[in-house]
Amino acid sequence: MAPRYAMSKQLIDTLLHIPDLDVETDVPMSAHTSFGIGGPADALVTPKTSEALAQVMKVLFRAGERPLVIGKGTNMLVLDGGIRETVVKLAGGLDHIEVDGDRIVADSGVRLASLCRACADNGLTGMEWSAGIPGTLGGALHMNAGANGGEIGQFTEWVTIVTLDGELQTLRRDEIGFSYRSSSFQEMDCIIARAGLRLEEATQSEVHEKICGVIESRCQKQPVAMPSAGCVFKRPTNDYAGRLLDEAGAKGMRVGGAVVSHKHANFIVNDGDATAQDVLELIGLVRGKVKDLFGVELATEVCVVGEPLETAASVEASLVSEAVR
Ligand SMILES: Cc1cc2nc3c(=O)[nH]c(=O)nc-3n(C[C@H](O)[C@H](O)[C@H](O)COP(=O)(O)OP(=O)(O)OC[C@H]3O[C@@H](n4cnc5c(N)ncnc54)[C@H](O)[C@@H]3O)c2cc1C
Repeated sequence: MAPRYAMSKQLIDTLLHIPDLDVETDVPMSAHTSFGIGGPADALVTPKTSEALAQVMKVLFRAGERPLVIGKGTNMLVLDGGIRETVVKLAGGLDHIEVDGDRIVADSGVRLASLCRACADNGLTGMEWSAGIPGTLGGALHMNAGANGGEIGQFTEWVTIVTLDGELQTLRRDEIGFSYRSSSFQEMDCIIARAGLRLEEATQSEVHEKICGVIESRCQKQPVAMPSAGCVFKRPTNDYAGRLLDEAGAKGMRVGGAVVSHKHANFIVNDGDATAQDVLELIGLVRGKVKDLFGVELATEVCVVGEPLETAASVEASLVSEAVR
């Protein structure tokens, strides 16, 4: 299928010749995000090996393109106009795990669920907090994902990244700044390819039991069956965004198809046909309520990417008017 906007046919052809790389064009991002929201990406590529990933980066770098990377799209709101950069997707591609004693080496596209299973099967404790988080290891490292006092940075020994020009580099833990829902990867232009984690030994049944407990508690407290991107806001200092939002009466507030969950006030769910614009307006409304009532400015945890519909429509209109001139 022909690309909708700026992506050149020559670039697509070059990408199509890279071995172990799936290439799709004009891809609805709603199919690649847990929110089920998002306009089309001009091109989406899924590397199956780290060599393919490095080659993609080299090709895009030579073409003067900066990619947009996604893991499983579970912490993302893609705007309705879609994405003009090439999307490099890691989930469903790089997904190898190796366990050696108390150490695990895993590709960035490995799902946290698979990592938890590998930990349970090998009697390794530490990662149970991540049970039920639907993203990948790469996304977790980028966000320093965490829950119930645990976070991925605590267990990370090293991370291998691919730089924008396609070079592999390995960073030790002390070279990476991890803090609450933040890592130095957020300030770097790179793709996380692989990481080494170190855990502690336990019995398989202990780990399994803890994982089951965490999943049960998530199902009770979070709207896990509805499309969402997890918690919308970060925790403010010494408080919880969910508590503030609940007290501000946010539960059940709606804009179009976007609704604040009745189960957990820090989750916005897609009730069927929500647009990114609906979600953004709802975020603005509930944030305003919390600010008015408590004087607290909530910061978003969800990553907002892409273009609003108007920009894409005006690009399309100008391309159409150029074509008819
Ligand atoms: C029901 C539900 C519950 C959740 N619960 C939690 C929770 O308890 N705790 C928590 O922290 N999060 C939670 N999340 C959010 C999310 O699942 C995590 O942050 C997860 O780690 C994101 O992984 P992902 O692969 O989906 O990343 P994506 O959403 O695809 O990407 C998130 C960010 O990471 C970047 N990124 C992704 N992969 C890479 C890579 N390989 N290299 C460089 N950058 C990369 C992206 O560019 C983007 O900026 C939840 C989400 C849902 C839907």
